[in-house]
Amino acid sequence: MIISLRDDADAQAVKRELTALGLWIAATERSIGDSGLQFVVAAHSTNVNPESVAQIAGVRSVSVPVPEHPRIDRQGPVVTVAGHDIGGAHPTLMCGPCSVESPEQIDAIAARVAPLGVTFLRGGAFKPRSSPYNFQGHGDPALSWMRSAADKFGLRVVTEVLSEHDVGAVSELADLVQIGSRNMQNFALLKRVGHTKKPVLLKRAMSATVEEWLLAAEYLLHHGSSGVVLCERGIRGFDPSTRNLVDLTAVALLANVHRLPVIVDPSHGTGRRDLILPLAKAAMAAGAAGVMIETHDDPGRALSDGPQALRGDELQQVLGQLVSR
Ligand code: PEP
Ligand code: MN
Repeated sequence: MIISLRDDADAQAVKRELTALGLWIAATERSIGDSGLQFVVAAHSTNVNPESVAQIAGVRSVSVPVPEHPRIDRQGPVVTVAGHDIGGAHPTLMCGPCSVESPEQIDAIAARVAPLGVTFLRGGAFKPRSSPYNFQGHGDPALSWMRSAADKFGLRVVTEVLSEHDVGAVSELADLVQIGSRNMQNFALLKRVGHTKKPVLLKRAMSATVEEWLLAAEYLLHHGSSGVVLCERGIRGFDPSTRNLVDLTAVALLANVHRLPVIVDPSHGTGRRDLILPLAKAAMAAGAAGVMIETHDDPGRALSDGPQALRGDELQQVLGQLVSR
């Protein structure tokens, strides 16, 4: 924001009023071809309506730079997916296995999570694995297993699309199309997914800034997505004690200042099941619209991410404590 002062303004008095509003001055300049002073507001200032700044005595005009991501800025805090409001009055719970392993497995998990207030069944049919020797997902068949399990128990489906090649199949069967961390800036994929007009769960890349994340969301909306829900799944920290570092500062910023729906994934964020409850609570306190949590009936035999999966009874306890707060 750039604030131009009148020639007769008391610059110090204006500055005091701006500071009282939470606006900090990054630079003071003299406008070109004009005698008036200009204040350039620091980026980390509080979000303040420019109209209230224009009313301060001594202010001539206020100019707001053209936004870089106008669509996501305008989207608002609620995205409706198959009749469910993400970012509405109730926390959205997305639960399921890391990988969809068999029709029986996804059926049993859907049956178990549906009575717990879960609205989205999660699970990967296409798995982004660091090693080519690890389980890569069952692909197309797993999508249908997941869709029928979800339909049987009144759940919605969120699942990841890994490549442009699978956008048609995933968008046909999923209610919410997940774009994983490793693909947050795969712009060709973002465009293709945008064209389907489906709502998207956009996971944050491991080292993406909030601005890069918002620009990725802008790609989706620009190309047609009906809404974007952000998902903080932990960024790469310096400390190997936990799998990742859940950036609750970014969650608070996006939820409270940008007013966007953010889901937090404490499973990938911490990599360990005993930290899921405290992180899920912290996420809700920071303003998250809900959580995504991995669960498995027998974590020791899970084909991926066993150490961070909660057993059914553990998930029930975690969700019970989370929603009864
Ligand atoms: C997942 O949710 O299954 C997943 C692979 O997550 P991420 O992209 O956050 O690693
Ligand atoms: Mn996983």
